[in-house]
Amino acid sequence: MAVKAARAAFNNPAWRDLSSTARGDLMFKLSALAEQHSHLLATVETWDNGKAFSSAQGDVDEVVGTLKYYAGFADKIHGQTIETSPAKFAYTLREPVGVCGQIIPWNYPLAMAAWKLGPALACGNTVVLKAAESTPLSILVFANLIKEAGFPPGVINIINGHGREAGAALIQHPDVDKVAFTGSTATGREIMKMASQTLKTITLETGGKSPLLVFADADLDNAVYWAHKGIMANQGQICTATSRILVHDSLFDAFLDRFVAYIPTVSRLGDPFVPGTTQGPQVSQAQYDRVLAYVQIGKQEGARLVCGGEPFMSSGYFIQPTVFTEVTEEMRIYREEVFGPFVVLVRFTSDEEALRLANGTEYGLGAALFTSHLSKAHRMARAIQSGMVWINSSNDSDYRVPFGGVKQSGIGRELGEAGLAAYSNIKAVHVNLRV
Ligand code: ADP
Repeated sequence: MAVKAARAAFNNPAWRDLSSTARGDLMFKLSALAEQHSHLLATVETWDNGKAFSSAQGDVDEVVGTLKYYAGFADKIHGQTIETSPAKFAYTLREPVGVCGQIIPWNYPLAMAAWKLGPALACGNTVVLKAAESTPLSILVFANLIKEAGFPPGVINIINGHGREAGAALIQHPDVDKVAFTGSTATGREIMKMASQTLKTITLETGGKSPLLVFADADLDNAVYWAHKGIMANQGQICTATSRILVHDSLFDAFLDRFVAYIPTVSRLGDPFVPGTTQGPQVSQAQYDRVLAYVQIGKQEGARLVCGGEPFMSSGYFIQPTVFTEVTEEMRIYREEVFGPFVVLVRFTSDEEALRLANGTEYGLGAALFTSHLSKAHRMARAIQSGMVWINSSNDSDYRVPFGGVKQSGIGRELGEAGLAAYSNIKAVHVNLRV
């Protein structure tokens, strides 16, 4: 029913023939409504996900900004004129792809919805968006605002349901033209397979095991600050989390001491609605169990648990910030994505070794590097295999800047002008002037 409604809306003159500026106006209106209802949206997001209320407020700000950013693009998407010969020329049209199936994860439900809706709507598509089963509510509240903004019926359809049922049905539907997914690499693989049946275009934003490199000439306090943010924010449930900290041998002990001492001063676990809380519970029992299972795996593999590794409080899915050292490249805790407040520290002795370690995983999402050596920073930024690099920082994300991965961290880009590419087809029109 949702796909049918999206198809009908795609062919409805009320949407299809709407001027691009008017399309942008609807998006500006939606952005303004999200801003107006930000307290409600953030409250429901915290209930749904367990993240600190202040973080949820930041997520809603991102929704407002992302929709506004792409609203501005709606009437600036156009083709080119291409001179070929005196007798002929060609021009291109940017056409919407059609009905887009969008599957979003539970770690940033509203923000991920905005990342996907923004470019899809700016380009004139219609959408069926499926929320994650563990965070079904905030998007339903948001759906009321879509109606209130005045989008023609069927342009945006929100569905809830389990991945293997609702998600799989959406991706396999023959009348869906494009699929966009954010989630785990394993699910991304399944989605790619299912989308191949009707050759749907796909964008995937999947997992990571992003490195954070601390070189010998790094500003140590700055590196500690960002290393903490890069893995402990959002309960560690971030695909770009810098979950492997690689530190030059000469600094390793000093870094470890400061990092471990810093954690209790900034990680405040507890009720996400209490002001000052920075870390809420993991999103679900499954994620809680998964992170604690990786603690056991780390111990069994012979790594050293420096701090954390235990639940916090007797109820709720709280996990103490967890740090492992004496970790080797073969260990699962070094290679596999844990998706929790869980980090491993490893030493390196040369730039070559740092680069080899940084690139030595199947993933390539983000990478952070800390150095005061200007040209080394930029050399490394080029050499690291990842979609994003943070110099003397970690996990910056901005709707004006492209976001995405290489290797098994994804296909395509979201955000920025680059995020529009996935949502329109280019049609070439050849014109003969010799008549
Ligand atoms: P996690 O394993 O961390 O919960 P997933 O990648 O499985 O993350 O989930 C992200 C999104 O993908 C959710 O909306 C989920 O419902 C959906 N999903 C999961 N499995 C499938 C599937 N087989 N087909 C389509 N969507 C799926």
